Amino acid sequence: MAGLLVYVHHDDGEFSPQGLGLLAKAAGLGGEVTAFVAGSGIDDGWAGSLGGHGAAKVLVADDAALGGLSQPIVDALAPTAAEADAVLFGAGVVSADVAAGLAARLGAGIACETTDIAMADGGVVATRPALDDTVMVESGFSGGPGIVLARANAFPVREGASGTAPVERVPVSVDDWSQRASLTGRETAEGGGVDITEADILVSVGRGMGGPENVQLVEALAKALGGEVAATRAVVDAGWVPYSMQVGQTGKTVSPKLYIACGVSGAIQHKVGMASAGTIIAINKDGNAPIFEFADVGVVGDALAILPKLTELVAARKG
Ligand SMILES: Cc1cc2nc3c(=O)[nH]c(=O)nc-3n(C[C@H](O)[C@H](O)[C@H](O)COP(=O)(O)OP(=O)(O)OC[C@H]3O[C@@H](n4cnc5c(N)ncnc54)[C@H](O)[C@@H]3O)c2cc1C
Repeated sequence: MAGLLVYVHHDDGEFSPQGLGLLAKAAGLGGEVTAFVAGSGIDDGWAGSLGGHGAAKVLVADDAALGGLSQPIVDALAPTAAEADAVLFGAGVVSADVAAGLAARLGAGIACETTDIAMADGGVVATRPALDDTVMVESGFSGGPGIVLARANAFPVREGASGTAPVERVPVSVDDWSQRASLTGRETAEGGGVDITEADILVSVGRGMGGPENVQLVEALAKALGGEVAATRAVVDAGWVPYSMQVGQTGKTVSPKLYIACGVSGAIQHKVGMASAGTIIAINKDGNAPIFEFADVGVVGDALAILPKLTELVAARKG
């Protein structure tokens, strides 16, 4: 098949919003967009609902071996992907793994952390921030298919999606060696299972909060705002909060509408994980802290004193 192929990952009967957003973006580029769904026991009606998100057609690879691990999915996807002009992947652990595996399998180029996609001269051009988000790089592909892996939350899901697309089942052949590992179960990550990459509002804990006993001040503000708690690596390494909350180079990349950094210095390794947030508010007692160089609103002061008052004000406003 020519055109754009979008791999839409799913877990527990739900399509990943990252894949749905990418589908909407691809559909807006003008060409014909095909969605690819892999799994076991897939319902045609459910798969066809991807038509509401922009798919003109949905290819379903249904096999007991496609139970969640990436390698069998690479096997199932590769024959179709080899014929596509480009294969697009939303952010996500399995999705990224499949994208990397597919690139290796097909000897194809891959553009990661993509925040925008365009068509030029009949090919896909992927845009990504680079050099600590100080420049934007556009990458095209000299041979097909080009593989594009999106940055988390780069593309919003179509609102009020409705409609269906025709579903076609594709033959599945999974290599023996791809099945040597199997998924034995899933567990909710420490930290209550909250996925900070999906949150609209994040309040983050930095070392400036003084100690684990003060994390509750951040939790209270996050709760009042209807948001979630995130953290710097310094705080995670110190054991104040679990790793699932870490934002940055070795943590998660987030792009909430609002990011309130409390006692966070704004080290480059933290910045790369949150600089694309809509509005960044920094509370830091050091007026020269690096975070003030890229915060939209800066408050110079003691976060331990400011947070309880801010929480009270938010709660009063909401009330
Ligand atoms: C390879 C590598 C990867 C890394 N990956 C990550 C990563 O993924 N994520 C990450 O976050 N870091 C990462 N780091 C670490 C990073 O370099 C910083 O050390 C870390 O982000 C600092 O965390 P912090 O801002 O909480 O602490 P600090 O840098 O110690 O900053 C604390 C801030 O709190 C302020 N402060 C102190 N008291 C108060 C108060 N009462 N009220 C208000 N403000 C106060 C201080 O002025 C200071 O600016 C990485 C480092 C390396 C080398």
